[in-house]
Amino acid sequence: MITTLIEPATGEPLTDVPRVSVDDVDRAVRNAQRAFTGEWRRINTRDRARLMNKLAALIRENADELATMESRNVGKPIRDSRDEVGLAANVFEYYAGATNKIGGQTIPGAASGVLLSFREPVGPCGIIVPWNFPIAITSWKSAPALAMGNTVVLKPAEQTPLTAMRLAELALEAGFPEGVFTVLTGSGSEIGEAIIKHPLIRKVAFTGSTEVGMNVMRLAADDIKRVSLELGGKSANVIFDDCDFDRAIASAASSSLGNAGQDCCARSRVLVQQSIYDKFSKALVDAFHAINVGDPLRDETEMGPLVTTSHRERVMQYIDKGKAEGATLACGGEVPSQRGSYLSPTVFLDAKPEMTIVRDEIFGPVVAVMPFRDEAEAIALANDSLYGLSGSIWTRDIGRALRVARAIETGNLSINSGSSVHLEAPFGGVKRSGLGRELGLQALDHYTEWKTVYIDTQS
Ligand code: NDP
Repeated sequence: MITTLIEPATGEPLTDVPRVSVDDVDRAVRNAQRAFTGEWRRINTRDRARLMNKLAALIRENADELATMESRNVGKPIRDSRDEVGLAANVFEYYAGATNKIGGQTIPGAASGVLLSFREPVGPCGIIVPWNFPIAITSWKSAPALAMGNTVVLKPAEQTPLTAMRLAELALEAGFPEGVFTVLTGSGSEIGEAIIKHPLIRKVAFTGSTEVGMNVMRLAADDIKRVSLELGGKSANVIFDDCDFDRAIASAASSSLGNAGQDCCARSRVLVQQSIYDKFSKALVDAFHAINVGDPLRDETEMGPLVTTSHRERVMQYIDKGKAEGATLACGGEVPSQRGSYLSPTVFLDAKPEMTIVRDEIFGPVVAVMPFRDEAEAIALANDSLYGLSGSIWTRDIGRALRVARAIETGNLSINSGSSVHLEAPFGGVKRSGLGRELGLQALDHYTEWKTVYIDTQS
């Protein structure tokens, strides 16, 4: 069986990829278990690090191919794909450094013996990756798992599997033993669930929608599997009237339109202090008009098409709801005439907290702008969400910046910046945005089990 992938920029077939069967899942997980208890377990930590560094080097050597593949498969601008391929290489290098630095302890306890703790690998890990940042998220989960001596069975999203498949080839070329890093293609409901339910899978790492994440957690509960979830978001961008206006405008556009808004960290709720609301709204609309939308393979393109036409239809339904519920459509909201699944950058002004466009994760190039009076109202509006993944605060008052940062319920936040992801720092969400942290040394906690060994030293 095959899946025909469609190129988002053209709407034309891109290539065919195989779809595996549930029997293939069983074979792959058994191979992963064999590798886990066999050759991979016996490799010493320095050699494991060498393999990971070799894979990072191969990612860099093949960066042009991987970036073009990602842009054609996902529709994202080539300069973003280049950054994400570079990030994937950095992630493998970062965790290569952890292989021989993360260990157990000797613990003071009973005088008659010695207490030791070991940090053991968990076992075969089932990893499920979405379509919005395929190679980046593949690396965030696989690299810490492999660094700690686990094996990986990974399923990319059905419509965007190409860079993960290529990574599996590069891992073999780097010298990873067979069965250590396996990529399986197919649908989430069939192949994803078969991986999660397989009795030999000990840990499940998932990025995707909150709804599917809830199902993943239920399925993992049957065997008490470890679960980490990186889910949706509806992050607030809080703009105070003493901000650096031009930087705040530029960031409000880039941090909501990056990846065409198909980003769990998108600052899709823009909260603006009343005293600068009109001026800011006008400048934001101008900035949205100025975004260079076009062919993802051109260097100057800032925003490409959405991932599929069916996803664009979903986003259009939200735009219709925004209009019907009374928000002011200030720009965008249209499907351009060119082929491919493009959608123009869209600003809704005068949004209200109860509107669907303010509550739901739209996952498209759409922002909802709302005014606030003071710090207390800004915090209340920012926290009025089921999600808590990312966000920004713009002010020159450092005291206020820190007060508001502490008060906002979220896993990540930046002050006078639109960034969310820093490879060396923990990343993840609170509330319905997820469970657990990726990146940083904290990610290694998911992929190790503490084992305590007591040695009685009495004669
Ligand atoms: P999904 O949550 O459906 O997909 C994410 C991954 O999970 C894909 O690999 C998918 O596989 C897999 N999956 C789907 N169903 C199951 C299942 N029952 N068991 C195991 N794995 C499964 O996201 P969508 O692609 O449908 O996007 C819908 C919405 O989710 C977006 O509009 C956005 O709001 C949110 N989302 C958030 C992301 C984030 O980064 N936090 C990423 C992606 C989506 P397959 O595609 O092969 O079916």
